[in-house]
Amino acid sequence: MTRAAGCGGAGFWQQRADVVVIGTGVAGLVAALAAHRGGRKVVVLSKAAQTATSYAQGGIAVVLPAGLAEDGDSVDAHVADTVAAGGGLCDADAVRSIVSDGHRAVRELVEYGARFDEAGGRWALTREGGHSGRRIIHAGGDATGAEVQRALDDASRRLDIRRNHVAVQVLHDGTAVTGVLVLNDDGPGILHAPSVVLATGGLGHLYEATTNPDGSTGDGIALALEAGVAVSDIEFIQFHPTMLYDGHRGGRRPLITEALRGEGAKLVDAQGRSVTDGVHPMGDLAPRDVVAAAVDARLRTTGDACVYLDARHLPDFATRFPTVTAACLQAGIDPVRTPIPVRPGAHYSCGGVVTDTAGRTDLAGLFAAGEVARTGMHGANRLASNSLLEGLVVGGRAGHAAAEHAAAAGPTRAQPTGPLVRPAVARADLQRAMTRNASVIRDADGLQTLTGLLDTATRRTLRGRADVEDAALTVTAQAVAVAALQRTESRGCHQRTDHPRTDPAQAVSTAVAADGPLSVKVRAGACC
Ligand SMILES: Cc1cc2nc3c(=O)[nH]c(=O)nc-3n(C[C@H](O)[C@H](O)[C@H](O)COP(=O)(O)OP(=O)(O)OC[C@H]3O[C@@H](n4cnc5c(N)ncnc54)[C@H](O)[C@@H]3O)c2cc1C
Repeated sequence: MTRAAGCGGAGFWQQRADVVVIGTGVAGLVAALAAHRGGRKVVVLSKAAQTATSYAQGGIAVVLPAGLAEDGDSVDAHVADTVAAGGGLCDADAVRSIVSDGHRAVRELVEYGARFDEAGGRWALTREGGHSGRRIIHAGGDATGAEVQRALDDASRRLDIRRNHVAVQVLHDGTAVTGVLVLNDDGPGILHAPSVVLATGGLGHLYEATTNPDGSTGDGIALALEAGVAVSDIEFIQFHPTMLYDGHRGGRRPLITEALRGEGAKLVDAQGRSVTDGVHPMGDLAPRDVVAAAVDARLRTTGDACVYLDARHLPDFATRFPTVTAACLQAGIDPVRTPIPVRPGAHYSCGGVVTDTAGRTDLAGLFAAGEVARTGMHGANRLASNSLLEGLVVGGRAGHAAAEHAAAAGPTRAQPTGPLVRPAVARADLQRAMTRNASVIRDADGLQTLTGLLDTATRRTLRGRADVEDAALTVTAQAVAVAALQRTESRGCHQRTDHPRTDPAQAVSTAVAADGPLSVKVRAGACC
């Protein structure tokens, strides 16, 4: 490690890599393993102990080869379900590319050591909302993510993984990536590298309550926007219909997996009336946007704080759903005897950094994969269990492409671009405003109120992780607000009470790009 003057005169450490991967969830570790296999020097950064990957419950949607598939499943059927859920905004070619590579990617994960639940000598398959048949593989009952993370952590032991390293800025020379600016316990430093993979996950902490771990603060969105790369479909934030409601409204809240409804659990209100009857032909197994909107509407009508998921009749509950059982018991609820209190919670970012299906962005050397990316897979609403699939497939491809780019580009010399100062709003104020004005339902007045708050952002020197996250949340909230205001219709996860209909003329993705440090704007022209 060397030190040099910079960043306003302070010393900063410097190192070199071929590929820097930011994130240690499914997308980051699969990308890092692929780049490592490509013979490149890979450095992996992680700021937080927990990943969303480790919390995933339901499973991975994957079409098994003929003979192993159930319900006559096929790539065509999975593509059709994904596109139907996506509300007209999926890129069907991207969906097909990712879905058809799913079984190979899962086999690779098995080679890394992952083990999935079996029944009768085959992988046990379950069903989730929006899927026309059983195609979800799972592990440890409802602990799929923990098993995926365990296997990838084990496989990555020989990689150079730096914990407590926060990526602050993607450095570039105007045409290509040159490195990353990082904060760690030694202060700011530069990793010189021709390839950078953003695998920073989601943005659930834009809201007061979320299923996401505390590191899901939109950092990758902020890094991309600051580097001049567009983000798209960012107004489509998926609210999971069944986040556990235990009286606590804030922070990370436990998820009650959709697989419960796949196995026959029913959503009812306090009077025992179905929440989804007459709402959608698939009832409780309708796509998430439909079920979350139905729950939200019922709560507004009744004034109750929660609805209930009645799973009392499911056999072997504690064995099949140990994670849900533990979360419920911790909250003093026995799911075998009592319906589980639930309400919608911020869960997944359907949009993100615009990439192709190999994770390439418009900036040479910058790649993105996993929840931070927008490949065109999810459109206006993600189908359950499609995100681990996308992270596996696109993560691997991005790592491979990043290694190839690094080999072709050769070593780089990155220059810091000035003081580490960004606009930021106090986190609690931002989360309150997002929760009130940009949740399951929105309208123009609320979104204007939100942008009014964001306009009061003050310049903050980035001294540590909390500052970086507050700044990332602020610019990400701006991107959401701008895109949500632009979309004067209701579609997928974006429901506007002042524009309740879907407008066929708006069946196009909205891209937003940075317009100076304090604002983002809609980028003219086709998105992707
Ligand atoms: C409770 C829950 C249940 C879910 N269940 C399922 C499911 O059953 N099936 C499914 O397909 N999907 C599920 N999802 C969604 C899925 O788990 C995530 O979308 C996916 O795991 C995201 O993976 P990722 O690799 O993109 O990001 P993550 O796994 O979130 O990893 C992000 C990484 O980036 C790092 N990072 C972020 N910012 C920085 C920075 N500035 N500097 C350094 N490091 C940074 C973090 O420390 C972390 O290591 C679930 C999500 C949750 C929260």
